[in-house]
Amino acid sequence: MNSERSYKSLSVILPGYNEAEAIRHTIEETDAVLRSLPLKCEIIVVDDGSIDGTAESALKAAHATPLKVIRFSRNFGKEAAMTAGLEAASGDAVVIMDSDGQHPPSFILEFVKHWREGYDVVYAKRASRGTDSWLRRSLSKLYYRIAFSGTTFIEPNAGDFRLMSSTVVKAILSLPEKTRFMKGLFNWVGFKKLAIDYTPRERTAGETKFGSIRHLFRFGILGIMSFSAFPLRMISRIGFLVAGSSVIYGLYIMIRTLCFGIDVPGWATLTVALTLLSGIQLISIGVLGEYIGLIFTEVKNRPLYIVEKVTQQQSNLERQREAA
Ligand code: UDP
Ligand code: MG
Repeated sequence: MNSERSYKSLSVILPGYNEAEAIRHTIEETDAVLRSLPLKCEIIVVDDGSIDGTAESALKAAHATPLKVIRFSRNFGKEAAMTAGLEAASGDAVVIMDSDGQHPPSFILEFVKHWREGYDVVYAKRASRGTDSWLRRSLSKLYYRIAFSGTTFIEPNAGDFRLMSSTVVKAILSLPEKTRFMKGLFNWVGFKKLAIDYTPRERTAGETKFGSIRHLFRFGILGIMSFSAFPLRMISRIGFLVAGSSVIYGLYIMIRTLCFGIDVPGWATLTVALTLLSGIQLISIGVLGEYIGLIFTEVKNRPLYIVEKVTQQQSNLERQREAA
């Protein structure tokens, strides 16, 4: 990758997990867009351990653009797939796009235009969350409000659909962490950026992999923990609050006993206070545990992903035409 500015080549990365049906359309649509660009392009598909033949299906798609398919040995998650794509990309700029057809490939033209104007990052920002369920929309709104009020690097409604210059890609790849919360890393590195509004389309085929609330919850927690010590600070704040109120309550009981003598003991109060406090303690230990878990992952220093096979394919358009 060049360090000085060059606008000659473009790599498009498509991470895909069980997208056999959708990825074919996506590649063909992307290929059509790339052909209209005066750039040397490549498409990199990262098959994240699919069990439905996504890699094979990708190789069957008609394309004039050189296609590289990296197949993982198992499912390592989208963050790892995107990292593998970035590592394999050789372009002066890189576009990351979902392979399910939700990200319109025509936006690449817009991205490239702004990149050439001098922006290092051009990213798509959801103008509406129309394709998400009401619950998912509300939860995501609440999450961003609570977790990221100006303290971290995550921007609401901006996803992974973006163009980055090779300088930015190099910066992202230089970050050593194993827990890769890409939405945050993208912003953490900085650089001159521009947002473009877009409305995600419906999936071409298949189902979302991030649909369950449990999964989103874990992902959300990871986002907060990878970028802030806010939960740890909360623990000490709660500690001070609880200790402070106990002192005040203690003084109140002491004065009341001195003035009015001893009355019937408050078992209920005692029990409630006791269970509440043990609850808070357990949650606090849990928060510490989560951070220790993250440290554990870092310390083990395992590779982010394992590649089973890399297939490189030049244009297969002629072959497709002959077959038809
Ligand atoms: N994906 C992946 N690995 C995973 C989960 C998802 O590579 O473990 C890919 C998936 O194939 C798709 C993109 O990440 O191209 C976004 O996933 P999905 O469409 O399921 O998420 P949503 O758009 O519903 O948020
Ligand atoms: Mg999707």
